[in-house]
Amino acid sequence: MTADSIQSIREGLLRKEFSAVEVAREALVFAERENPKTNAFLLFSAERAVANAERVDARIAAGEEPGLLAGVPVAVKDVILTKGLRTTCGSRILEHYVPPYDATVVERIEAAGGLIIGKTNCDEFAMGSSNENSAFGPVRNPAAPDRVPGGSSGGSAAAVAQKTAVISLGSDTGGSIRQPASFCGVVGVTPTYGRVSRYGLVAFASSLDHIGPFARSVRDAATLLEAMAGRDPLDSTSADAPVPNYAAHLDGHVRGMKIGVPISYMRHALGETYELIDKAIRRLKGLGCELREISLPATDYAVAAYYIICTAEASSNLARFDGARYGLRSAASATLSDMYHNTRGEGFGPEVKRRIMLGTYVLSHGYYDAYYKKAQKVRALITRDFTNAFQSVDAIVAPVSPFPVFRIGEKVDDPMAMYLSDIYTITGSLAGIPCMSVPCGTTNEGLPVGLQILCNHFHEQQMFRLADAFERR
Ligand code: GLN
Repeated sequence: MTADSIQSIREGLLRKEFSAVEVAREALVFAERENPKTNAFLLFSAERAVANAERVDARIAAGEEPGLLAGVPVAVKDVILTKGLRTTCGSRILEHYVPPYDATVVERIEAAGGLIIGKTNCDEFAMGSSNENSAFGPVRNPAAPDRVPGGSSGGSAAAVAQKTAVISLGSDTGGSIRQPASFCGVVGVTPTYGRVSRYGLVAFASSLDHIGPFARSVRDAATLLEAMAGRDPLDSTSADAPVPNYAAHLDGHVRGMKIGVPISYMRHALGETYELIDKAIRRLKGLGCELREISLPATDYAVAAYYIICTAEASSNLARFDGARYGLRSAASATLSDMYHNTRGEGFGPEVKRRIMLGTYVLSHGYYDAYYKKAQKVRALITRDFTNAFQSVDAIVAPVSPFPVFRIGEKVDDPMAMYLSDIYTITGSLAGIPCMSVPCGTTNEGLPVGLQILCNHFHEQQMFRLADAFERR
């Protein structure tokens, strides 16, 4: 498509070079043709996209403001509810589930003129780092088809990288937006916890779940966040803080900005990842930023704490999938309790079962204090590390992943190796601070690598400004 950014579509529409209906149709034809290469989309929603495009065209014809995302094709991770459109969470248990309502983010995107063209593949219930836990097959990385796109929001990252969507939505609990963004070479943003309503996001670990944007530029990601952020009475954890005009502040000025570099994070980054991150940091210095070494000592315990907290919350959240209320009900059951067992046995994949068992264990009587309570204390220490760091720096930069994108099948049999790869992303998630990945180059093999930027709560504006200045190169 010739118009492939929010701004270029807007300008084309206002100049009457094309209509929103034309954009929708062209985007759908292209996405349906290209999708077999990656398996990024699980479903296309042509009717809905065209109906929304007609509304955008009507607004423009009437001389009305068509909205921040007017005529922009958007892909939505399949853990976010879309009324009347199947929402599977990448799971057999919800294979045929059609939600009766829209998530708040979906409503807001459409109110802003965005065109939802389809739902994207992901790890089952967002549990995973490679998209290989989807019941509907893995996603291929557009930059290297024998490799994973990252996870769990692999389909949303791949669609934006493959240009089958202009922007997309992912969800991040411990890195599921930043890591696939880094692996696919696109921008991915995890906003402050509470910045975006979670209403209509199928819960994995409620105290950690975030919805956030993918885009091919910082500006587009910032605009999408602006369109969907803000207080929602339907989510009591959504924050009542004003939503700034993020894109208006991308002026390239970062001179004097104080940047923290966590030295221990750099120590674990391997080979070419280290070199690319190091080069990125030197470039920030060239832009006039002041670098400072910082320490985030509680990081050593982050992976352990995260996998206790997220599995505990998941075991409780996923109790609702019992065959009686949503989706699959096993046919071959004589009693009610058989029906529960069989439905969950048939419907959930191995990673989801592993997490439900782990979570049930750490919450059980006798182990609660030893595991769950201790993990909550570690979470407080991690948050304190960031609070201390942000007293002397404006932003922190770090790798997203210790290594570049791996091959499909490479880590699938080793859950521990997969869990450890989340080391740099889960600290930001546990602290609830805004963090993002911005492309910082490719390895000799052409594999994308992202630079992670983390800021203090509700300082998205500063984060975007730094990322945008970096992106301009
Ligand atoms: N990879 C992490 C996990 O498997 C993060 C997932 C996520 O952020 N949804 O839990």
